[in-house]
Amino acid sequence: MSKVIIGVDLGGTFVKTAIVSTEKKIIAKASRPSDADGGPKAVMDAMEASVRDLLAENGLTMDNVLAAGFGAPGPMNWQTGIVYSPPNLPGWKDVPLAADMSKRLGVPCYVDNDANVACYGEFWMGAGHGAESVVVFTLGTGVGGGVVVFGQLLRGIDGTAAELGHIKVMRDGRMCGCGSKGCLEAYASVTGMVRTAEEKWAEAETALKAMTGGDTEMLDGKIIYEAAVAGDAYAQWVFDETATWIGLGAASMVNMLNPERIILCGGMIAAGDMLFDKVREVVKANAFEVPVKRCQILPAGLGGDSGVIGCAGCALARWQEDNR
Ligand SMILES: [Zn+2]
Repeated sequence: MSKVIIGVDLGGTFVKTAIVSTEKKIIAKASRPSDADGGPKAVMDAMEASVRDLLAENGLTMDNVLAAGFGAPGPMNWQTGIVYSPPNLPGWKDVPLAADMSKRLGVPCYVDNDANVACYGEFWMGAGHGAESVVVFTLGTGVGGGVVVFGQLLRGIDGTAAELGHIKVMRDGRMCGCGSKGCLEAYASVTGMVRTAEEKWAEAETALKAMTGGDTEMLDGKIIYEAAVAGDAYAQWVFDETATWIGLGAASMVNMLNPERIILCGGMIAAGDMLFDKVREVVKANAFEVPVKRCQILPAGLGGDSGVIGCAGCALARWQEDNR
């Protein structure tokens, strides 16, 4: 049989693993705890076991594997495969992840940052399939981003490009987790949505107060969405504000890159038309006519698997580059 590629998406809580054929067929997927509290060795043990178990369950061995790709939280060096010190991976400092995993598995291993692999996954097999240029926003606690142009990830000279969550949208705006002010992430993430809800909380007449017992600590994306769907005007305003910020970020990408598709990932896209209609309206009102007509704005095609599939896709692309 033809060879397979392994994707491993490493998060603070779970390791997701997938086996994908070189013909873009998903053969198997699995998820297990990442044992992040145990430090780098425990995490690598979990990843290695996950790969070997999944292969064995599917009648495969490492001999069938062409390469393996790992998605990890940054900061990192994608070329050397060294992961510096991600905030949600305790005990990690300058870990040579690619080299160590290559030694353990005996196949070429590649490391990329988690936002880029999610983008690549959507480009390779998801809502971006068949397009040449794709922009991905991942809307969660933060706002992750990725850009594919001419079929390649846009990485920048130091590998730090496409931090779309940190596009500046407001002078002297809200404080962002990155230490700067006025970043898109501080408005367009789920955390940003909660901050918007808090801003006019005192004078707001809203069912959210009953739903949270008046405690803004209890606010989250789901509660705001549910209140909005139930017709609560304040929750609808909060949701529209958030969608507007997302639309402004997307409009900037439309004007800058003239992409074929902008893809939104993350839990927030469960809101469906309520989110997408507003985002499309704001993009249309704020970007040039020709690129707006060209650009489709779509939900992720791979659901929560964009990252792990993208790990495999990135590994295949990089293996092919190395073996030309
Ligand atoms: Zn920022």
